[in-house]
Amino acid sequence: MLNSTDVFVIGGGPAGLATAIAARRQGFRVVVADGAKPPIDKACGEALMPDAITALERLGIAVPVAEARPVCGVRFLGSGLSAEADFPSGNRGLSIRRTALHRIMTERAAALGVDLLWKTAVTGISREQVQLGERAIRTRWIVGADGASSRVRRWANLNAHSRTSLRYAFRRHYRMRPWTDRMEIYWGKHSQGYATAVSNEEVCVAVASHDPDLRLEESLLAFPELNARLRGAETASAERGSLSANRKLKRVWRGNVALIGDASGTVDAITGEGLGLAFSQAVALADCLGSGNLAGYETAHHRLSRRPLLMARLMLTLDGRPGFQQRTLQVFRKHPEVFHRFLALHVGSLSPFCLALDGLTLGWGLLTA
Ligand SMILES: Cc1cc2nc3c(=O)[nH]c(=O)nc-3n(C[C@H](O)[C@H](O)[C@H](O)COP(=O)(O)OP(=O)(O)OC[C@H]3O[C@@H](n4cnc5c(N)ncnc54)[C@H](O)[C@@H]3O)c2cc1C
Repeated sequence: MLNSTDVFVIGGGPAGLATAIAARRQGFRVVVADGAKPPIDKACGEALMPDAITALERLGIAVPVAEARPVCGVRFLGSGLSAEADFPSGNRGLSIRRTALHRIMTERAAALGVDLLWKTAVTGISREQVQLGERAIRTRWIVGADGASSRVRRWANLNAHSRTSLRYAFRRHYRMRPWTDRMEIYWGKHSQGYATAVSNEEVCVAVASHDPDLRLEESLLAFPELNARLRGAETASAERGSLSANRKLKRVWRGNVALIGDASGTVDAITGEGLGLAFSQAVALADCLGSGNLAGYETAHHRLSRRPLLMARLMLTLDGRPGFQQRTLQVFRKHPEVFHRFLALHVGSLSPFCLALDGLTLGWGLLTA
């Protein structure tokens, strides 16, 4: 019976599995425990931005072509207008069902020799021990990958964070032929709709707003073009809800406990960056476990979160401001190169400093549109 390990990962979602894979590749003995059983599903836009794919490759994971669909860029739609931009050349995105991604990551972890304990909720932690009900496992490192409402974060007294603006998100799949190979963001007055084709016969649709009572079907009325496309399409999954927020923790480690993924802070769903961020954090965390330096992990964590949090804040300045949305779309249509460079910044191919000129173009365009 397993009674000790080097790294104990609490939560076997994408962040926990990525951590387990990265730590195993450093030679650690690794255990993952999750209260649920695979394949684990979750409300998600199911898009992997180019930086997420690079991070997955660093974990030795190449998503099989048959499991995913290529995504070539982003399209904004609203106020009867649309504007689109491709990812910078050499970059590609993918869309994939959460359940398929979970299976691929689970298989990779199992192949590397990670001990996977499903249907096993962690009930507490102490200095060098993880409690699974009556059973305890000794461990050198504890990683909290238990999602946005992390109990590990509370147990390790790491809950302090900067202000959070909560949004409520819902997602569902529709059985239909995809009409686009881009991630689409529909701008409504007080909400956004996201559409991503996840296979040749299924489209994932999500919505996010500040209204806790607004459900998917009702919110689609704010996006007439998307609503028209979905009319008559058969639903292929149940509606799932989740919270979405920008939340930055003051600290992501204490003693021998480190937090990762949504447990360590979140970026709003609008960025499509939560998974990529978790995968990059996993690589950084495993490196720091290797050198025994969790302070270094915190520095890397803050650096990695900076760009997605900036992009979330920039994009959400359009939320609830229809006039501003319309003028931004007009500028992006008139100056497609500006939208293209914003997307390059979003996926980390361009530094914010290179955008100064585009900022002026956008500002001038917004004043004169
Ligand atoms: C509407 C929406 C759309 C999104 N769209 C995208 C997108 O398109 N692209 C993208 O990259 N990101 C997207 N995200 C963000 C992304 O879904 C999250 O960042 C990602 O799921 C975080 O993974 P995680 O492993 O940290 O947490 P989770 O996926 O929440 O996994 C946590 C795991 O911990 C387990 N757990 C919890 N407590 C315990 C316990 N005590 N013991 C054992 N196990 C436990 C749970 O069962 C769960 O499996 C979206 C988010 C939302 C809300």
